[in-house]
Amino acid sequence: MKKLGLVRDIDLALHLPLRYEDETRLTPIGTLAEGDAAQVEGEIRDCRVEHSRTRRHLVARVRDASGELVLRWLNFYPSQQKQLATGRRVRVRGEVRGGFLGLEIVHPVLKVVEPGAPLPTTLTPVYPASAQLPQAYLRKVVESALRRVALDELLPADVAPPGLPSLRESILALHHPAPGVPMSALEDRTHPAWQRLKFDELLAQQLSQAFAQAERARLRAPPLQANGVDHLRAKLAATLPFVLTRAQQRVVAEIERDLALDKPMHRLLQGDVGSGKTVVAALAAATAISAGWQCALMAPTEILAEQHFRKLVGWLEPLGVGVAWLTGSRKGRARQAMLGAVASGEAALVVGTHAVIQDDVHFARLGLAVVDEQHRFGVEQRLALRAKLGAHGAGSARSAAPAGREAAALEPHLLMMSATPIPRTLAMTYFADLDISTLDELPPGRTPVVTKVFADDKRAQVIARIRDELARGVGRQVYWVCPLIEESESAEGSASQALDAGPTGMMGRSSGRRPPADLQNATDTHAELSAALPGTMVGLLHGRMPAAEKAAVMSLFTEGQMRVLVATTVIEVGVDVPAASLMVIEHAERFGLAQLHQLRGRVGRGTAASVCVLLYTAPLSPTAKERLRALAETNDGFEIARRDLEIRGPGEFMGARQSGDALLRFADLGTDAALLARAREMAPRLLRESPEAAAQHVARWLGSRSDYLKA
Ligand code: ADP
Ligand code: MG
Repeated sequence: MKKLGLVRDIDLALHLPLRYEDETRLTPIGTLAEGDAAQVEGEIRDCRVEHSRTRRHLVARVRDASGELVLRWLNFYPSQQKQLATGRRVRVRGEVRGGFLGLEIVHPVLKVVEPGAPLPTTLTPVYPASAQLPQAYLRKVVESALRRVALDELLPADVAPPGLPSLRESILALHHPAPGVPMSALEDRTHPAWQRLKFDELLAQQLSQAFAQAERARLRAPPLQANGVDHLRAKLAATLPFVLTRAQQRVVAEIERDLALDKPMHRLLQGDVGSGKTVVAALAAATAISAGWQCALMAPTEILAEQHFRKLVGWLEPLGVGVAWLTGSRKGRARQAMLGAVASGEAALVVGTHAVIQDDVHFARLGLAVVDEQHRFGVEQRLALRAKLGAHGAGSARSAAPAGREAAALEPHLLMMSATPIPRTLAMTYFADLDISTLDELPPGRTPVVTKVFADDKRAQVIARIRDELARGVGRQVYWVCPLIEESESAEGSASQALDAGPTGMMGRSSGRRPPADLQNATDTHAELSAALPGTMVGLLHGRMPAAEKAAVMSLFTEGQMRVLVATTVIEVGVDVPAASLMVIEHAERFGLAQLHQLRGRVGRGTAASVCVLLYTAPLSPTAKERLRALAETNDGFEIARRDLEIRGPGEFMGARQSGDALLRFADLGTDAALLARAREMAPRLLRESPEAAAQHVARWLGSRSDYLKA
């Protein structure tokens, strides 16, 4: 129950039915037709176990005045047979199908009843349930919670849209619809009771964001300002091998303005793949460091963390900055030495995976935390990060707090980076407490990647194409990507979650482990390509390899000795190998749009014209077809995000980025725009006029979930 957020009575009262079952009517058996979903009542005529060559079925016959129906169980307990004694009166429900012996219901819902037992008068609710939390149990606990819970109206009369029922009426009406209410209005959520609950939910969300904003305004951070012409930031900018784009200059200025303030920055830097976010982070780090504070940079995978580490060492060590490297696979004495350097402040910049926020890591003076590809960190990790930053962060350097604020602990500034842009209106709805900077320009000299879509019967031609590409000389390298959903790095827990990969992932969250068949796919392809390309070093990279092995493969590929790399989505985020000019993605239909765009972003990073081949296995679902078409038609990450939103709808779109259950459960930003507009308008008024009621409303709706909104 806790996992589903069902802790308080109000949580159960707000655990609303997904749909309903109609048990209010009985259908005479004689009038049943194939395909009907129906409830019938009658007497058991006989019940026996039928043996076929491979299976045992339990088969019963039930009869009413109009006819006879077969009930069939493919799995059963001996006790079930006893329950179905001849002459018993039963009420059964299910879908009718044509069987060998006439009409039958397989695995009916069955209840033994007394003759003349009354039918329910209202629809029966069906709650979101799980294997561990069965429907019958949920019905019972929701029922008793409804008897206890206080559902008094908290909002002044004119806040909710006019004409809608009260909160109490709405909740009761949805758990137990009155007789005659059409099931369709309940299930498509257009009923006034649904409107009221959706409005209240949206209002709670808007209010909680306003609270989060107010809370942040009270926090204090060290103002990070480096004065003088020869401070570290200026030196770094001068040594870069390229000129910053105008977009980069603009966002660097936005970030520096925030850093100079004595309240914590909370900024999301979004920019398409390859737009050059890393150097922006490096410049922000330089500003923090030259102001005398430490900076932490976190990446979701070891591969990416290591790549950042190399790049930053190259840029900053010549300028006298100590850079440390912390990941889960670093153990023993090396780790102790690093921890020492972090605690003493000797390491001004600490790069790593989320190992950077483990309990035993203590910063001397943490002034800035940068989270790269933040959407790839799980919600739990993001919460842990926020907690860690609040508790430890800059707080240990209280003596440096400006005079007069000595009591207030200092929080570090926070910069989050993401390559999957969120359209502005959505961002405003979901992240009121987040400022956004956008890199809307790519560095010059990039040739757009050409994307081609083929069915997988063209596989042999594609392999021939790889041979041609390699023959065009050094400086041409190839990625071959195989789908593998479960990519947690075993040494560290789930550092990355391929949330929108594949058919299950498209539903918001990937559900558990995928069969190892996926991994087989990558190893098979590796063998196939090795055989087809004699004399070429073909590598294999996947999330379940030991970190050292991954690093070794990656460095061979980065240095160009290994020219073909068969990889799972471990390479999805951030990996930067400019010589890679061809990418093949097999089973492209299994990936989400944002993820395909991210993957494609691994090529086209150098000067060579690059190609991305999407191989799919027919038949394509309509949405998969749309995804592949969108990808072939545009290279623009913002356009891709717009299409993704269109294909999936806002709930799913955001669900893959945030925690699905933490955010909107009932309202849908697509269809409920009018309710959202009213919630946005009412939230500030309520805060002004009845702040108490506003706080109670948020507590009622979000309870412990409100934390999630900060993640
Ligand atoms: P992303 O935004 O996807 O994280 P990166 O920071 O990895 O992009 O940058 C992609 C590549 O572009 C890197 O090789 C980086 O050094 C290079 N780069 C960044 N900014 C510029 C620039 N202004 N001009 C030329 N190259 C740049
Ligand atoms: Mg990056």
